[in-house]
Amino acid sequence: MSSYEIIQIDSQTWRIEDQGVRFFLLTGDREALLIDSGMTVHNAKEIAHSLTDLPVRLLNTHADPDHIGSNQEFDTVYMNPAELSNYHKTQRRTGDITPIWDGDVIDLGNRPLQVITLPGHTPGSVALLDITRRVLISGDPIQDGNIFMFGIQREICAYRHSLKKLERFMDQFDQIYPSHGTFPVMPSLIGELQAAAEKIIAGEITTTDASMFGNPIRKYDAKAAVFLLDKE
Ligand SMILES: [Zn+2]
Repeated sequence: MSSYEIIQIDSQTWRIEDQGVRFFLLTGDREALLIDSGMTVHNAKEIAHSLTDLPVRLLNTHADPDHIGSNQEFDTVYMNPAELSNYHKTQRRTGDITPIWDGDVIDLGNRPLQVITLPGHTPGSVALLDITRRVLISGDPIQDGNIFMFGIQREICAYRHSLKKLERFMDQFDQIYPSHGTFPVMPSLIGELQAAAEKIIAGEITTTDASMFGNPIRKYDAKAAVFLLDKE
């Protein structure tokens, strides 16, 4: 059952809360962009058209199942091609993407959004820098809930490098809009997550065993967030 809540952030930005995951609608002068398409929601396009008359396109921050619930409504979706094997697992097809690369700028009309690739949580995870609003829309890598880092496609060392890469952009945003957990979060969370990832890699955080979707995992409660890694 889908139950969701639409919350307006400003005159051109909305977040849609979908049972623990959120996705966003942004509008510019020319067009609108959905950033992810929900988990239990399968009519994100319809929701978007209830909020704007502009043409709506879809971008996925990554292809985990809680972010692509309404992808079938779109002929094409902006996605980093490194995400295609992940996408194929649930969609059984991959041919309908418009590739986005690190540094690309998608302009909605006086609203440029810069793509920043952040591999680690998944190989093709991206964040978007909403340049004029000084907001980073971060997807899953930057958030204070559970950060999934188990399974073949996830890589904690790559994740650490992605957080380090964000240091270059720290003077360009004042707030972060994550896909899970507290909304919004402050840029200082990036340094806290970076310190946590380094401690996990160094084996300096005590763990508890758990199970997630049948996978034996280890939970690292790093205060800033809880990291879930493979039990080796
Ligand atoms: Zn997610």
